[in-house]
Amino acid sequence: MAVYVYKFGGTSVGSVERIKAVAERVKNARELGHQLVVVVSAMSGETNRLIALANETQKQPDARELDALISTGEQVTSALLSMALQEIGCPACSYTGGQVRILTDSVHNKARIRSIDSEKMRADLEVGKVVIVAGFQGIDEHGNITTLGRGGSDTTAVALAAALKADECYIYTDVDGVYTTDPRIEPKARRLDKITFEEMLEMASLGSKVLQIRSVEFAGKYNVALRVLSSFKEGKGTLITYEESPMESALISGIAFNRDEAKLTITGVPDLPGVASKILGPIADANIDVDMIIQNIGEDGATNFTFTVHRNDFARAKSLLEATCEQLGAKKIICDDTIVKVSIVGVGMRSHAGIANTMFKTLADEGINIQMIATSEIKISVVVAEKYLELAVRALHAAFELDKEPAGS
Ligand code: ADP
Ligand code: ASP
Ligand code: MG
Repeated sequence: MAVYVYKFGGTSVGSVERIKAVAERVKNARELGHQLVVVVSAMSGETNRLIALANETQKQPDARELDALISTGEQVTSALLSMALQEIGCPACSYTGGQVRILTDSVHNKARIRSIDSEKMRADLEVGKVVIVAGFQGIDEHGNITTLGRGGSDTTAVALAAALKADECYIYTDVDGVYTTDPRIEPKARRLDKITFEEMLEMASLGSKVLQIRSVEFAGKYNVALRVLSSFKEGKGTLITYEESPMESALISGIAFNRDEAKLTITGVPDLPGVASKILGPIADANIDVDMIIQNIGEDGATNFTFTVHRNDFARAKSLLEATCEQLGAKKIICDDTIVKVSIVGVGMRSHAGIANTMFKTLADEGINIQMIATSEIKISVVVAEKYLELAVRALHAAFELDKEPAGS
């Protein structure tokens, strides 16, 4: 019997009415003879509401307690979905992450899954029950509740699919697939029938929040057939695949952006061995992830050094850098938290030259100044002022003709 894992995001379970609609869909699939494990997110807005409550109560909310709090959103929707299913005559049982032994490490707020005990779920499936699991959460070896980072229900779903060796994992959301870019920013964005794991991984890591990056990593590693589709309308959605169609002549597949970054520069740093580590060492020790890094060529024995961090870490990074500035006898620091990163992604880049130039020229023609550039084999990222985000995305979307089906596809 085929086993499917379905995941429904926040909007898809945003009200009792929506939960009832999800229950109908699940019941119909079960009646086709499938075994179903359903992962749910919290109702839309609920996780943010809980985080706001925590921030009101404690200046720097305790990470363990925060997890205990924010994991409740998913517990609510899983129980409600189980009730909605029972109400329409479909046997179902809901579980928290801990109850199905989703064992994680102890890094609260961004825990990683270590193992899953699928026995209980299998036993329920065998007797014809739909298994519902609260997404986004697990338990550590000491029995503490952990959460998997924002968007973590995607990862719960894929991890369960891997553990159960499910036939497919369907991520139901409020868009009908993965688009060439966020359709909220560019209405001309086009749905992709398929996208490679590699590209999806880049899109997710560069800011496309349609799938949590770890869910894509998991799917790639454990060979989970993964599809993104709408819970509101019928359709095939987007398949995440290993396949790279040789006929596909698209130069790039999509545009991602990230509004969560902030930029810090330290100028007049002595141009000596070990300086980069003196600047970034304290940042790393404070557990702050650094994204892009640029060090300029030195002149007169001094150089400038720029890096970006998540905006949530901006204030901490700034005060650490101020201390470093004094210590190194550097000139000054310049900080900016009104920047964004815009990236173009595509495996087609490997075999085509001149893509970077098209990108830079397109931005120049719009009068957009590029502050930083980073490249890899299948992506080019630029940092620009936040006010240019929409303009940059739309101009690049048009320049690379992403609204048109690629020839030969
Ligand atoms: P859910 O609550 O179902 O997990 P999310 O809000 O996490 O949904 O993800 C879906 C959203 O991702 C869409 O509403 C869309 O605005 C956004 N998004 C960003 N980039 C893309 C993209 N390339 N394709 C589709 N959606 C995207
Ligand atoms: N509810 C969590 C969040 O808002 C997890 C998820 O929806 O995937 O981030
Ligand atoms: Mg999500």
